[in-house]
Amino acid sequence: MILYCATTNPGKLREFRLAAETYGRGIVRVEPLPDLDRVPPCEETGRTFEENAVQKALYYSRYAPGPLFAEDSGLEVDALGGAPGVFSARFAGPGATDEANNRLLLDKLRGVQDRRGRYVCVVAVAERGRLLRTFRGVVEGRILEEPRGSGGFGYDPLFYYEPFGATLAEVSAEQKLSVSHRGRALRQLIQWLSCGMDHD
Ligand code: IMP
Repeated sequence: MILYCATTNPGKLREFRLAAETYGRGIVRVEPLPDLDRVPPCEETGRTFEENAVQKALYYSRYAPGPLFAEDSGLEVDALGGAPGVFSARFAGPGATDEANNRLLLDKLRGVQDRRGRYVCVVAVAERGRLLRTFRGVVEGRILEEPRGSGGFGYDPLFYYEPFGATLAEVSAEQKLSVSHRGRALRQLIQWLSCGMDHD
């Protein structure tokens, strides 16, 4: 089956496709929403990852020929009261680059001892404007004092994952997916789809 997604983030799309190949056993294929660039962008006004994921899934599914999922994800840092949270993509301002966001994060954490944080991902699935399910994945980590590695995207060079002894930018895409917030949420989604969407 084809599962449509509504994202323009190439890092996320790569991970969606890898998850479908890894967990979908050929049953599920992820495709970007056709003509996504011609659909007026959905506002993201929610205060939580859940609210934003549901808002996007309901909106974009009206343009999709089949089931569509949207996700909202980001980084929560304990010492910053959970920031950047839903503002992760635009932490350093609208249209901010990953580098600018990472620099701001390091500035805000200068001299801070407690560097615990987590990535959170919420995936919402909808069909023709009707919400079907949501799934949530979390991975705990620590923010380093300088970037390490060139893989992944976003905050990955600063996100140290203790069990790997590495940042998520220093491991393969498969290794990242096996533990990441997005991998955990997508695994649940794909298992649910493979079981015929029969569990509510
Ligand atoms: P969204 O597109 O509004 O959901 O923004 C998500 C933002 O959170 C991204 O632009 C990144 O800054 C950050 N983020 C989410 N997931 C990851 C990840 O797997 N690695 C690194 N950064 C992430």
